[in-house]
Amino acid sequence: MRSMPLLLALCACAPAIVVPPRTAVERTERSAREVELCVLFQERFTRPRYNGVAELSFEPWDFAIASVAVKHPSAGLVIIDPAFGRSIGRDLELAGPMVMLLMGTERGKQPLVDVMDDAGLSASDVQYALATHTHWDHIGALGDLPNAKVLLPRSELTWNSPFHGSFDHGVMTHHLKRAKQNLWAFDFNGPPIDGFAASFDVFGDGSIVAVPIPGHTPGSTAFLVRGNERTYLFTGDATWTSRGIELPAHKLLTAVDFDLPTLADTIGRLKAFNDNRPDVKIIPAHDGAALASLPQCQQQGKPGQR
Ligand SMILES: [Zn+2]
Repeated sequence: MRSMPLLLALCACAPAIVVPPRTAVERTERSAREVELCVLFQERFTRPRYNGVAELSFEPWDFAIASVAVKHPSAGLVIIDPAFGRSIGRDLELAGPMVMLLMGTERGKQPLVDVMDDAGLSASDVQYALATHTHWDHIGALGDLPNAKVLLPRSELTWNSPFHGSFDHGVMTHHLKRAKQNLWAFDFNGPPIDGFAASFDVFGDGSIVAVPIPGHTPGSTAFLVRGNERTYLFTGDATWTSRGIELPAHKLLTAVDFDLPTLADTIGRLKAFNDNRPDVKIIPAHDGAALASLPQCQQQGKPGQR
């Protein structure tokens, strides 16, 4: 069916997205260390596009749950968004029937560590874990990475620290508790870059730079990663699809977003970035087609897949 750009009635209350002028995205030239990266899919299936973005379209949305592995030459193995843990079945039960309606059952979902194993990567080799935000489907595997230092923005940890119970604002507190010994807070104490208000250079070499993209959660973070073939911007759940940035548009289901006016500002910035930086590939966390533009993590010796 032809796509009809139409904001649905359900989204009529979402604040308008104002796109800043292209000139607001001043390209920050900086030297950066190049790193290898690859994707670890834990679930992938097709849904109608309107499930993911407020656009009345039955075009397919390649929905995915995935993590990204970055092989840093000195810091070691880094995982961005360690998504499904070994406890995925129990996590779905704790999340309750509404989430199960949206996300399905345990069937078809693979824990990160199993996918890593298939790709010849060891969970115990992961030195750092980063997350675009702390919702349950982005940090479920934290407790399965015994040696990983977990770096999260202070703004996100301040937000979720009073949470209790098994499932609060999309956060499962046991995921954070399991990682507690290894949890480190960071601040966005670096300069504004590329239209984003501030930055945090994770390893001090420009290979992975975190920028704040608040709204979906207060401490939501995008990661600019300098791959050796191209640069990627991992944008978490600011939008669920690339289409959300291209239009730009909110999700259809805005109840999952913490602060909609702030998110509208973030999506506007991402749209301006997208228009002004065609050299960077933007990757929303649940856009399987965008994620598939990364090489898939493979056992050495096996041919790479795209
Ligand atoms: Zn998510």
